[in-house]
Amino acid sequence: MEILPPIDPTGREHADERLNPALAILRRVFGYPFFRGDQEKVIAWVMAGGDALVLMPTGGGKSLCFQIPALLRPGLAVVVSPLIALIRDQVAALRQLGIAAAGLHSQLAPGEAGEVMRQVDEGMLNLLYVSPERLLSSHTLEWLVRKPLALLAIDEAHCVSQWGHDFRADYLGLGILKERFPGVPRLALTATADPPTRMEILKRLELDQAQVFIGGFDRPNIRYRITIKKHPHDQLLAFLRTEHPGDAGIVYRLSRNSVDETAAWLAKRGIRALPYHAGMSGELRQRHQDRFLNEEGLVMVATIAFGMGIDKPDVRFVAHLDLPKSIEAYYQETGRAGRDGLPAQTFMTYGMDDVVMLRRFIVNSPASEEFKRIEHHKLESLLGLCESVTCRRGVLLRHLGENMETSCGNCDTCLEPVPTWDGTEEARLALSCIYRTGQRFGVNHLVDVLRGEENERVKSFGHQQLQLFGMGRQRSVASWRSVFRQLVARGLAHVDVVGFGGLGLAEACRPVLRGEQQVLFRQDPEEEKPRREGRKRRERPVFQLSRSDEPLLTALKATRTYLAREQQVPPYVIFSDSTLQEMIDLRPRTLAQLEEVYGVGSRKLERYGEIFLGVLRSGKAYSP
Ligand code: ADP
Ligand code: ZN
Repeated sequence: MEILPPIDPTGREHADERLNPALAILRRVFGYPFFRGDQEKVIAWVMAGGDALVLMPTGGGKSLCFQIPALLRPGLAVVVSPLIALIRDQVAALRQLGIAAAGLHSQLAPGEAGEVMRQVDEGMLNLLYVSPERLLSSHTLEWLVRKPLALLAIDEAHCVSQWGHDFRADYLGLGILKERFPGVPRLALTATADPPTRMEILKRLELDQAQVFIGGFDRPNIRYRITIKKHPHDQLLAFLRTEHPGDAGIVYRLSRNSVDETAAWLAKRGIRALPYHAGMSGELRQRHQDRFLNEEGLVMVATIAFGMGIDKPDVRFVAHLDLPKSIEAYYQETGRAGRDGLPAQTFMTYGMDDVVMLRRFIVNSPASEEFKRIEHHKLESLLGLCESVTCRRGVLLRHLGENMETSCGNCDTCLEPVPTWDGTEEARLALSCIYRTGQRFGVNHLVDVLRGEENERVKSFGHQQLQLFGMGRQRSVASWRSVFRQLVARGLAHVDVVGFGGLGLAEACRPVLRGEQQVLFRQDPEEEKPRREGRKRRERPVFQLSRSDEPLLTALKATRTYLAREQQVPPYVIFSDSTLQEMIDLRPRTLAQLEEVYGVGSRKLERYGEIFLGVLRSGKAYSP
């Protein structure tokens, strides 16, 4: 398979492309006009033979950093990737571009692996994707050391971190690549990398000479929203119906049971939802994943077992009905939305019960004390994000080591500033209540005492005789629960998870108890505000169409789906949503005009150009 098409179908050539072969490939093969972020610098560094660690947010374009040098440097580029789904997707996308790529992993049909190896032996491939265990088998290593290699790329490099959420034991062995392939440039790439993870990647992969490229972590097209958990299913449904009808998205839940429950609940209400978790048979899981990738507009309800391999660019929302494990996990999971750069949203509901449950998980896990301490700390940072009264993006980015100067204008706290109230007195009262009742009761009991409920339980402990009994009568139960939740979130009180989830005082509460520190609380919305008519629609729709263009979009999508089915690849591998939008905006009428469209490279122009021009001309879906 040739890399570049022999003739330029438009007959034009740019002077800067002649000087910069990487740019020429970007334009002619990938169909994109310019490099993004650090791409050009990384490519130049690798072309010169250097090692690199590349940190870029999801959707930032990490793959091009090794794919372009793979085409320009002599020899085979070997790409280590942790998941077969990921390998399949990338190989399919590269082949669509006319690039000779193949994958080696455990799920190839008999004979396929042999065929791939023969292609490598004959020097017919530019890129070979392998799973880490496959690469590290002595057989494969011995075979590859005798080949001229263009480079070694280690994708999802954070999988090497034992403390991270995607740890893969096989990744630990990748350090030996340095010794086995001397002189071959190595690149590690990831979207998660808080500073400790960064250090761990460099150390474990033996990248001591590597240049580190840190792209900004911001994902400006993602809108963040976190809300108090009341009736999570209803809240989710309202979100889906008003803001994401017909969109593809992911709903994360903590347990397998709740995944099944939520998927069934949604399906009953007419949402096309499928479950995905590790308790299902591998075959069924695979089928659901394939449907999510290949059909438009499916909602996947899943545990975190789902996602890392998901390169699907048009995921329009990611919802969490339970708390994720940490800010890093939240960033990573929400990062699966809007890879295509078009507007996307996140939605999370959280409540006190989640906090208690996660703390229990940590305490009861067999991990070391040090590990648990770190996990507790991560949970606290996450609560800080949930309770923040300032820009969520600011909190998120600061946690990832980046500073943001202004508020983002695209998160819930920016869009609808959170009302706060001075709760200094209430905080003191609540903390005293924890103290006077002996630091062993849960929120329900504490609220009863404050509100002066003379029930059996209260009386059995004699708490109706406390001086503060009933002193909080004028506040609602919900309001007091919110106070306790926020005290915990700010580290002023803590949850005892060994016993029954009772609350205790934290060291930091002293100045508050003494009345030396003011406490501002978030005002929780009393009820989910019914959204006003005018706000029902997405503020920035993904497709900006006039009504008369809708049939054309439908025809373009149907054509893309038809071509995808024929080749058994996901529709977005044919053309992305952004490409379809540009076709509608620019209405190209000739091949030369079509080539100007974002995401149309020469190979796709050759294969699909006439077909799509036909659709644009007639307004009708392609039918052969
Ligand atoms: P990630 O960093 O998440 O691995 P990808 O490499 O999958 O991101 O790229 C995300 C999307 O952005 C892909 O559809 C890719 O083709 C596109 N892309 C990458 N680089 C550019 C660029 N310079 N211009 C336009 N689109 C790009
Ligand atoms: Zn904001």
